[in-house]
Amino acid sequence: MSYDIQKIRSWFPVLSQQVFNKPLVYFDNAASTQKPVQVLNALQKLHNEFYGNIHRAAHYMADKTTLEFEAVRDKVKDFINAGSREEIIFTKGTTESANLVAASYGEQFLTRGSEIIVSEMEHHSNIVPWQLVALNKGAKIVKLPVSESGELQTGLLPELINSKTRLISVTHVSNVLGTINPIKQIIETAHVRNIPVFIDGAQAVQHIPVDVQELDADFYAFSAHKMYGPNGVGVLYGKKKWLEQLPPYQGGGEMISEVTFEKTTFSEIPFKFEAGTPNITGVAAFGAAIDLLQEIGLDNISAWEHDLLEYATSRLKGINGLKIFGEAPKKSGVISFLIDEIHPFDIGALLDKMGVAVRTGHHCADPLMKFYNIPGTIRASFGIYNTKDEIDLFMDSLKRAKELLN
Ligand code: PLP
Repeated sequence: MSYDIQKIRSWFPVLSQQVFNKPLVYFDNAASTQKPVQVLNALQKLHNEFYGNIHRAAHYMADKTTLEFEAVRDKVKDFINAGSREEIIFTKGTTESANLVAASYGEQFLTRGSEIIVSEMEHHSNIVPWQLVALNKGAKIVKLPVSESGELQTGLLPELINSKTRLISVTHVSNVLGTINPIKQIIETAHVRNIPVFIDGAQAVQHIPVDVQELDADFYAFSAHKMYGPNGVGVLYGKKKWLEQLPPYQGGGEMISEVTFEKTTFSEIPFKFEAGTPNITGVAAFGAAIDLLQEIGLDNISAWEHDLLEYATSRLKGINGLKIFGEAPKKSGVISFLIDEIHPFDIGALLDKMGVAVRTGHHCADPLMKFYNIPGTIRASFGIYNTKDEIDLFMDSLKRAKELLN
């Protein structure tokens, strides 16, 4: 398919507004994406037509809502090619998915002295949950280091893995550097030693095709709000063989089979991990976001965004004193940079007044900032609706900001 950018932009009316009397350029997609009319309509439809609580349906409204909700589980299964729908758990987001695995896997499999390998380029949400459980269990976090170019030093893995290693946790795509990590290779290395791997896919599934069976991932997590879907919805994919062994993460309604004061038995997966009323309408509308990504096609999205990345990178390299962090050969549409000694916040604030939304700061990746010995970066991150014209506007604004601050 040819990439119909006009059609795609027409799905996002929010993009055609002016901000501070300037056309909006939204380059903060790694933080969260804008929502298309398909998702907004789906949210409204559910509330207007048949909203009810799900699963224990005793009436038409609840029945229809349950069907709508469960249909999205099938969509997610197909989207990442999971082996079965029971392997798809709905959560609040990647953060909750990571906490779920850390708490449940940790409870079951970690003992004093156990080791978990976590990469140095992780978002805090894939570091802190492991630290919490490690503290509780007397386990240890072992760092998989990055290199100056922003790539994981996967060659060190055979040295880092030992008889105490219980899990490896790594991001598929870095939210700061854009690096696409060789997770298939990491998973293969881990599996030779029967070690499971948790993949943080928060910055991957909206940009590149993901097939969890082909990757042989044990756990894979992502967030709907970064995929043009609603906030407060996330996914944890887990291999059946793991999910069946893990204890529940939270207790409450829906996750039980029978409760007495003496003893409680639990539901089968996935419901064992879905305590309480979930974000019903959010999940239902997430289905519309997945449809949209599949209509455009992940291969097309990947090619379009790669083109934007190359164009923006070559233009940025023309600015004197600008340094890009993350120059791995395989990158998604994320560029982090600094200019001279100028503080990223100052550039971000000026860009904002020129209508350009970028993210500045540590990007919830403090260990990576420490590695580069910097306070933060300016980050431009692209989505399906961005264009080279917007990159030109961004470049003009950036040059003006630099002049003003120098
Ligand atoms: N992991 C990565 C790589 C991220 O970029 C983010 C958010 O920016 C998260 C995890 C956390 O996602 P959420 O806040 O949706 O749970």
